[in-house]
Amino acid sequence: MADDGRTQPFSVDAIRAQFPALDQEVHGKPLVYLDNAATTQKPRVVIDTIREFYEQDNANIHRGVHTLSARASERFENARTRIARSLNAEHEREIVFVRGVTEAINLLAHSLSDDWRAGDEVILSELEHHANIVPWLMLGQRKGIVIRTIPVNEQGELKIDALPDLITDRTRLVAVNHVSNALGTINPVARIVEIAHGHDVPVLVDGAQGLPHGPVDVQALGCDFYACSSHKVFGPSGVGALYARGDWFDRLPPFMGGGDMIEEVRFDGVRFAPPPSKFEAGTPNIEGAIGFGAALEWADGLDWLAIERHEAALLERMSSGLSDIPGLRIVGQAAHKVPVVSFLIDGAHPHDIGTLLDSMGIAVRTGHHCAMPLMHCFDAPAGTARASAAFYNTLDEIDQFVAAVTRVRDMLV
Ligand code: PLP
Repeated sequence: MADDGRTQPFSVDAIRAQFPALDQEVHGKPLVYLDNAATTQKPRVVIDTIREFYEQDNANIHRGVHTLSARASERFENARTRIARSLNAEHEREIVFVRGVTEAINLLAHSLSDDWRAGDEVILSELEHHANIVPWLMLGQRKGIVIRTIPVNEQGELKIDALPDLITDRTRLVAVNHVSNALGTINPVARIVEIAHGHDVPVLVDGAQGLPHGPVDVQALGCDFYACSSHKVFGPSGVGALYARGDWFDRLPPFMGGGDMIEEVRFDGVRFAPPPSKFEAGTPNIEGAIGFGAALEWADGLDWLAIERHEAALLERMSSGLSDIPGLRIVGQAAHKVPVVSFLIDGAHPHDIGTLLDSMGIAVRTGHHCAMPLMHCFDAPAGTARASAAFYNTLDEIDQFVAAVTRVRDMLV
């Protein structure tokens, strides 16, 4: 949160007024957007920043001597500084721009595994998104890496007590999400880091769903890597950031080769640029990075203590409202959650629930939420319906949503 007196007092109406996409009708009904875990809407300041960049400063970065290139480069690097500050990284060198969490984890699966051998192990959890499963499975196919998983309990919380026994002398990494996209569970990341570091094992945190719900302090978490996606935090799509603590980026080999990540190229060899350039081959998503910076700058000025209270109220209203509907089962009721609720209705397919809600103007997501292994843990092979709120949602919208689910249940069952 901003500590310089810029913090805006929290008013959900004032916040909503900054999001043009929220102010529309869908199928003749006011839009109730509850698909924020998939992607968030964008405040006007982000939209304006990107438009204004294209109108005034558009140029390729880093290699140009001309004024527009210098301005674009400066804005791109300022965005990196902004992200470093928002994550409380010690230095902007620790931030690499990527396309999103998916690319961040693929980068690490490639670069970390350079000296891994068949039989080396990676510990994931049953709560993971496919972005933090498939790159490791691919590594398993290529290199014989073995995956072990921290199990979940019936509430959808990680059984952390299982972690020490999962760590062996072949464990090379623990990789877990900060917050589950499918269930909303907030994971005890600092504790996971403490256990893993006790065995000299580094930790990667998939922060896709962490940053949208509050300030993140990578130094307090103690993690080695933290990955985030701009579009989940009110910024543009196709850009994200990977934080790597200290000299990790110095020690790792690059992921992709090409322009901008080199110091010298000859046909008999290449010398790479120092990080972060070493991991940023090719022309990056310049306007995306600048928009991402603008989103974090904006979010940093919000009253996050008030937002925490508002999100807790949204969750409570959603959970209690849905629990009263006969035949409805909430999947995952962790003690520490963000306002994300996954649910099933006996005798109704999640896709039918989502389609009928859409006809009432309400946007939710249905299916496996890119977390098929988790869906199997909860005996929900067709997935669930998931409502995911952001701080711009109102209690009134939650009431409309619960009333709509009640009608949908009556229609389908
Ligand atoms: N991890 C989690 C927990 C997510 O929710 C998502 C997106 O839904 C991802 C990773 C992948 O993020 P992206 O698609 O932005 O790369």
